[in-house]
Amino acid sequence: MTTATITGLDLAADGVFLVRATCDRCGRTVLHGAGPDADALILGHRVAHCGCGGYELADPDGIVPVRLRVIRQEQAEKARRRAEARAQRAARAAG
Ligand SMILES: [Zn+2]
Repeated sequence: MTTATITGLDLAADGVFLVRATCDRCGRTVLHGAGPDADALILGHRVAHCGCGGYELADPDGIVPVRLRVIRQEQAEKARRRAEARAQRAARAAG
């Protein structure tokens, strides 16, 4: 069975997770959507984007859990900064 080894995971601006992988047959980099739910990422078998027919998205290096942790931290940090900016605006408005 052909596999594509996951090399990256990002959260797109529209809230969908994108998996970057390398096709283990031809070596091309491919990108697949993995859905919007961090707790239920859609991985597994895919129609190949590189012309190799199909492959299984595989994560032997544990990229996905590491990236999810980083992305969650980034999201929490963004939310914190947004809340801070909101509080400052409210304080100015009340000032
Ligand atoms: Zn391929």
